Amino acid sequence: MVQSSNQSLYRAWASRNRWSEDLRCDCDEPATFSISRTDENPGRPFRGQFKKCDFFMWLDPPLPNKHYKETMWKLYVELDQAKENKEMHMQMLKVLKLMLVMMVVMLGMLIVLLVVVNKD
Ligand SMILES: [Zn+2]
Repeated sequence: MVQSSNQSLYRAWASRNRWSEDLRCDCDEPATFSISRTDENPGRPFRGQFKKCDFFMWLDPPLPNKHYKETMWKLYVELDQAKENKEMHMQMLKVLKLMLVMMVVMLGMLIVLLVVVNKD
C-alpha cells in the first residue's frame, strides 16, 4: 500500500517533468522521445504516445521565426546527407577490405604455384 502510494507520488512528480524517462500518458503508457520533421517545427523535440490515446507535448519552445526554421531544415538535410555518405563510405571500405583479402590469397596461391613449377 505504502509502495503503490510512493509510486503514484513519484508518477505525479514525473508527469510534471517533461524530460523524465518515466513520463507516462494518462492511460499509463510510456511517452517516447521524438524529433519533429515538419516544416513548421523542424528538429523540435516532443514526447508522445499514439497507441491508445493521442498524448503529445513539445519539449522545447517553438523556433522564433522563418529564418530559424529554414536554417534548422537546412542543417537537418545536410546531416542526413552526411549520414548517407558515411554509410556509403563504410560499405566501400568493406568491399575494399574484401578485395584486399582476395588479392593476398591470390598472391599466396601464385607464390605456391611458382614454387611448385620451379621444383620440376
Ligand atoms: Zn495514453
